[in-house]
Amino acid sequence: MNPTPQVISNDEKVANEYVNQVFEIVKNRNPYEFEFQQAVKEIFDSLIPLFAKDPIYMKHNILERIVEPERLITFSVPWVDDQGNVQVNRGFRVQFNSALGPYKGGLRFHPSVNSSIIKFLGFEQIFKNALTGQPIGGGKGGSDFNPKGKSDREIMRFTQSFMTELYRYIGPDVDVPAGDIGVGAKEIGYMFGQYKKLRGAFEAGVLTGKSIGFGGSLARKEATGYGLVYFVQEMLKDNGLDFEGATVVVSGSGNVAIYAIEKAQQFGAKVVACSDSNGYIYDPNGLNLDTVKQLKEVEEKRIREYVEIHPGAEYYEGCTGIWSIPCDIALPCATQNEIDAESANTLVVNGVKAVGEGANMPSTIEAAHVLLENGVLYAPGKAANAGGVAVSALEMAQNSMRLSWTFEKVDQKLHEIMHNIYLSSTEAANEYGHPGNLLVGANIAGFKKVAQAMISQGVV
Ligand code: GLU
Repeated sequence: MNPTPQVISNDEKVANEYVNQVFEIVKNRNPYEFEFQQAVKEIFDSLIPLFAKDPIYMKHNILERIVEPERLITFSVPWVDDQGNVQVNRGFRVQFNSALGPYKGGLRFHPSVNSSIIKFLGFEQIFKNALTGQPIGGGKGGSDFNPKGKSDREIMRFTQSFMTELYRYIGPDVDVPAGDIGVGAKEIGYMFGQYKKLRGAFEAGVLTGKSIGFGGSLARKEATGYGLVYFVQEMLKDNGLDFEGATVVVSGSGNVAIYAIEKAQQFGAKVVACSDSNGYIYDPNGLNLDTVKQLKEVEEKRIREYVEIHPGAEYYEGCTGIWSIPCDIALPCATQNEIDAESANTLVVNGVKAVGEGANMPSTIEAAHVLLENGVLYAPGKAANAGGVAVSALEMAQNSMRLSWTFEKVDQKLHEIMHNIYLSSTEAANEYGHPGNLLVGANIAGFKKVAQAMISQGVV
């Protein structure tokens, strides 16, 4: 596998200079937004081989346009806690790019949320959504509200207040939010109720990730985790490897992690570890997924409780230590920048063969380089975790038709979509001279779709 592009030809030199110039503008215009700068830098570096071969994209100044959100909305979210105190949080929605369809992307409720986080996520979403082949643009939103430890009533009051402002900017053909960290079916349900009340209309397609009873899609809950494993399985098979018999480490224990574990186990892997924001568990016999589901999905407890039920397992405080567990396949499904260069090196030394990203941007740029340079098969998040948003688009399609498909039908479509993303990423990597480098391939394939639509639609 080739490492990240080395500048070789004159055309590449010109492209490299152009990309660096635009990146300087991005840094000046978005000072202190380091996560956003990181996401932009990663894409820009991957595009050098494209611009060298097809200079048309430089002529249209697509790069300068694509890094500017079409709209960034921030608002206050006042709410009353159970003690009667008035609280206020900050709400965000970035409507980044609508070249391919209505803005689409999740809402994240987490104390770390700020405009840099929302913009990095929204920027990634543009290319991820393009890769799915579904008619969806890129958006993202959220709040610095921390749902941990809040009562159901507090969560309801907060989400209602959040939607009281957001509702005027969204709609089934305008912008369709969904879940992300801290936002699941419960929060989506409360937000849908508030939207319905404010609009005076039942517009099922305004949000995705709804419960099954009122317009949700079967297999949406499983989609990101299953899709990740489908994608990684394609990559493994192409290289004569398989999940069957492999030892797997998964970080996180939310929706993405749980269904990645489920599908990896179904494919015959032994998953030995998972984590939450406090620490990680290591079960050398293979995780008992029923226990993980019971703790996290039903009882909303900490992952450390697992070792009380399974004394053969061990619990360790802190999150990065999970990458020191020897494994064949690592699936980071927790959060951004959870694998740095040091953790990537540890994985390499311990013989990891593949890394598949279920979270958004879980590897730093340096970590991705370490993996690629050491011949590790690397499935970047915007390709590998696109299954969630892809099935959200299928939920929108079902809502428009006012019908619902079976689990098997949605799952089969998900499988096809992940297969196609793998193919288009691989083909782009080959076409632009970096065979096997899915980071370059996915970024180029996603960018080309969006850029071509932007050129066709004129300067708007
Ligand atoms: N939050 C998910 C993502 O990062 C899903 C977004 C959606 O379904 O709209 O892609």
